[in-house]
Amino acid sequence: MKNICDWNNCTEVGEYKAPIERDNSKKYRLLCLNHVKEFNKNWNYFSGMNDSQIVDFLKSDMIWHKPTQSFSSSDNFFKVLWNNTLREELDIEKFKNEHNHMGQFRFDHKDIKAFEILGISVGLKWVKIQDKFKILVKKFHPDMNSGNKKYEEKLKLITLAYTQLKNTYREKIDSQP
Ligand SMILES: [Zn+2]
Repeated sequence: MKNICDWNNCTEVGEYKAPIERDNSKKYRLLCLNHVKEFNKNWNYFSGMNDSQIVDFLKSDMIWHKPTQSFSSSDNFFKVLWNNTLREELDIEKFKNEHNHMGQFRFDHKDIKAFEILGISVGLKWVKIQDKFKILVKKFHPDMNSGNKKYEEKLKLITLAYTQLKNTYREKIDSQP
């Protein structure tokens, strides 16, 4: 019996290994040639980018998705993002009851990067992501680091990654039957 490509709706034979976690070759998906190429392209998408380039990339995508909100300056953008992060919560109860793990879902290169930025495994439960986010916020908040600019940048990156995953998880949960 042959394996079928593990890509959305693909029916080709899956014979190429694609890692699920970085630095862990034991966990992989089997893909067809076309999709393993697609996967590799996405996997390397951010290589060679520095933090501020990644910030710009994630940010532009979010502004694109929220055309009604205007962000007059970079700082304002993060203020809005930050306030949303503190205010908005996913429907955790619904999520908790229906899913133990998001591993069944497919994530794109921006999501994969966001998991990496937060230092968590791909498809981690949302409640666990929130826990990790809170820990990172405490660690990198400028108030805790005498206003150190370096930590501020790091916090922006973390907030963007968290928002990226929040949007993705919400989409995936909403599309559940
Ligand atoms: Zn395929």
